[in-house]
Amino acid sequence: MASISIRGMTKRFGPTTAIEGIDLDIQNGEFFVLLGPSGAGKTTTLRLIAGLERPDAGQIFMDGQDISGHFPAARDCAFVFQQYSLYPHLSVYDNIAFPLRSPMRKTPEAKVRERVHEVASLLHIESKLERKATALSGGEMQRVAIGRALVRSPKVFLMDEPLSSLDARLREELRVELRSIQKRTGSTVIYVTHDQVEATTMADRIGILEKGKVQQVGTPMEIYEQP
Ligand code: ADP
Ligand code: ADP
Repeated sequence: MASISIRGMTKRFGPTTAIEGIDLDIQNGEFFVLLGPSGAGKTTTLRLIAGLERPDAGQIFMDGQDISGHFPAARDCAFVFQQYSLYPHLSVYDNIAFPLRSPMRKTPEAKVRERVHEVASLLHIESKLERKATALSGGEMQRVAIGRALVRSPKVFLMDEPLSSLDARLREELRVELRSIQKRTGSTVIYVTHDQVEATTMADRIGILEKGKVQQVGTPMEIYEQP
């Protein structure tokens, strides 16, 4: 859990200004949706927060501390992408356990087992733990990818269109589950989508991004149900 504040952040790629002087405040425990059309700068914003890109100007604060100069690993963000980036040769169990077994963490195996089972239970994939990642359906693979992000209880979850490769029924099911997991764990989530339905059904607040600028921030009610 953490709050994120962005001040005057700008990012250029050669002649393209992907993000232009944006300010954003995301509260601790909030489900914040960044909504906007393709090319608006949503992915770039997530990558800047994660430390995968460096801003050309501006600062990022986590819980009030300036993390602009920190390496990605020191930011304690977990990323879930549209394409499940699982390790295909590993089992579901080992995929989820992977972040806990990094040389830097050295989590005891008993603790690993406990966390993997907790997360698998939250995501209803306990019966799949022994399977190879390649033997899963698309929806199951995305559950594993979400599980791998959840397992080390990061301060902030960054999700980039995590459901957009799934069919409509699965998308709806996972939307509801993701919301309920987020409420139960109290995590701060920044969720990128171009889908207005997804944004209004999931968000505590929505930030509308267009052409690299924040156009509007508010609750779904404030944005879509004004008189
Ligand atoms: P969105 O996620 O809203 O679709 P992006 O953040 O991916 O938008 O991209 C915003 C703009 O920045 C686009 O014009 C895109 O082509 C450009 N862009 C993003 N990443 C790069 C990059 N690594 N190199 C060059 N241009 C990039
Ligand atoms: P999305 O629309 O979901 O943001 P994109 O297909 O635009 O995804 O971008 C995927 C990746 O490619 C991102 O990491 C982005 O930074 C990079 N990218 C986007 N546009 C460009 C570009 N014009 N040149 C190089 N890399 C780019």
